[in-house]
This record gives sequence, structure tokens and C-alpha cells, in this order.
Amino acid sequence: MPVCPRCDRSIPETALSCPYCKLKLKAHGHPGMTLYRAESNTPLCATCLYDADDSCNFSKRPDAMTCTLYQPLSAVSEPDPKAVYRIPWWRKYRLWIALAGLIAVSLLVAVL
Ligand code: SF4
Ligand SMILES: [Zn+2]
Repeated sequence: MPVCPRCDRSIPETALSCPYCKLKLKAHGHPGMTLYRAESNTPLCATCLYDADDSCNFSKRPDAMTCTLYQPLSAVSEPDPKAVYRIPWWRKYRLWIALAGLIAVSLLVAVL
């Protein structure tokens, strides 16, 4: 069960605000829209993936203390090298292979 970041009391997972201290926990009154809060004086943007890759265009950036789109940098993990699709060697040379095949067919037709 989650804990209120202000009063440290247990709160229901779907609570829109803390039933004890009334801290707003969800944005726009929607239970699925978590409102992330900075835990210290450091803005969320300092540790946000969207600030790091410069893709955020929120007006609150770079000083957002609350945000609904916050994605911590720690949430990004390196891809598993075994899971990465390897391009077959012949696809790199497919133009040359097609040209060689065309020449071979042409020579075969000329010989016959
Ligand atoms: S998504 Fe929110 S926390 Fe992230 S950079 Fe934009 S304003 Fe900052
Ligand atoms: Zn509270």
C-alpha cells in the first residue's frame, strides 16, 4: 500500500488525494494519472529522461516540482545484446548480389 509523501500514512492506491492531509496525488482528478513530486528542492527535470533527451516541451521545464509525465533516468535500461536483431550479412550486399545474379543469367543466355 502506498504512503503519502507528506504525512507518511498509508493511503489507498487509487486515492486522488491523501485522506488525511489532503495532498493532491493524482492529476486532473483521474486515478490513472499519477502526479509525481520532487522529494527535495531539486526539480524533477534534473533526473527526468525527457529533460536528458531534450524531448520535453512543458513550460514548467526545467524547474518542475510536480509533473505527470516524469520518467526517472533510472527507469531506462540497456537493451539485452542477445535480444537485439542482427541483420544478415547478405542484406548489406544485396544490390551487388542481385547485379552478380543478373550478369550470371545474361552470360548463361548468351552462351546458350
Ligand atoms: S516531463 Fe516533467 S519532469 Fe520531465 S523534463 Fe518535462 S517538465 Fe520536467
Ligand atoms: Zn497525507
